Amino acid sequence: MDPPGRRDELVLIQHELVNAYDARVRAVVVGQDGQAALANVAEPDGPGELVEVLACGLCGSDVEKLDPGHAGLVPGHEVVARAADGRRVALVHHAPCGACDRCRAGHESTCDRFAAPTIVPGGLAERVLAQGFVELPSVWPDWRGTMVEPLACTLRAVERVPRGRVVIVGNGFVGRLFGSVLERRGDDVFAVDLDPRRAGRAPDGAVDAAVLCGRGGIATALDAVRPGGTVLVFADAGRLPAADVYRRELTVIGSRSATPEAMTDAVLLLDDLDVPEPTVLPLERFADGLELFRRRDALKVVFRP
Ligand SMILES: [Zn+2]
Ligand SMILES: [Zn+2]
Repeated sequence: MDPPGRRDELVLIQHELVNAYDARVRAVVVGQDGQAALANVAEPDGPGELVEVLACGLCGSDVEKLDPGHAGLVPGHEVVARAADGRRVALVHHAPCGACDRCRAGHESTCDRFAAPTIVPGGLAERVLAQGFVELPSVWPDWRGTMVEPLACTLRAVERVPRGRVVIVGNGFVGRLFGSVLERRGDDVFAVDLDPRRAGRAPDGAVDAAVLCGRGGIATALDAVRPGGTVLVFADAGRLPAADVYRRELTVIGSRSATPEAMTDAVLLLDDLDVPEPTVLPLERFADGLELFRRRDALKVVFRP
């Protein structure tokens, strides 16, 4: 039996351990070596509401950040969570000010305010601090809600794509979202991909517009459009061959990320679209999910903490 006093000390130590554990959150963290692994991080503290993450999609832009330069980062921005009042919501990951010149011109993702993340530490965690969200229909499975963010990015970009014959270059998950949205508005949609497993209906002639959804496709996109056509760049596609743009009088437009308004529109539209179902894995299997994504064996991977 413990001598008197010693027992109280043990209880106190246990209590501190429990508190220390409680204040920690399991999350996927980028290590010094650039590899992402599950770790315990301090519970986030700061502005916003602490919410319980139910699901988080893995995006190509998250995978691009798995390098030593992003050590300490918790990736993930396609987040469905349970708010403190019990509502199930999709989180807003960056918010524009809505009032500056760039916001008023429709370039909200270049607003100075937009640079600050509004999901802390990042979506691939058990709990996060959120500064904004949109409510989701109660009948949706959690994974469906993770599609609100990528769809919102798509909707904002589609506004800049002229109507007509459109080719998607890079027919992964986001390419399919573009295809579905463009078809719904009445465009004649084609899709190409470097990976033959992902190729869609190939264009049967020059198109009015191309939507570039992946790396390495800029030449394909420029070649596909008719003179005077438009290329929407939705990925970091490297250098642009300007001679093509000049000689064929092409219009090249960039679009990146989503606004809170587009998130609301995406919730309303998602049920009308034909979207592929993702592979859903527990957060413990992050490495497996990443491998599926990198090998292009899964169109979309969603993790559940
Ligand atoms: Zn994304
Ligand atoms: Zn602004």
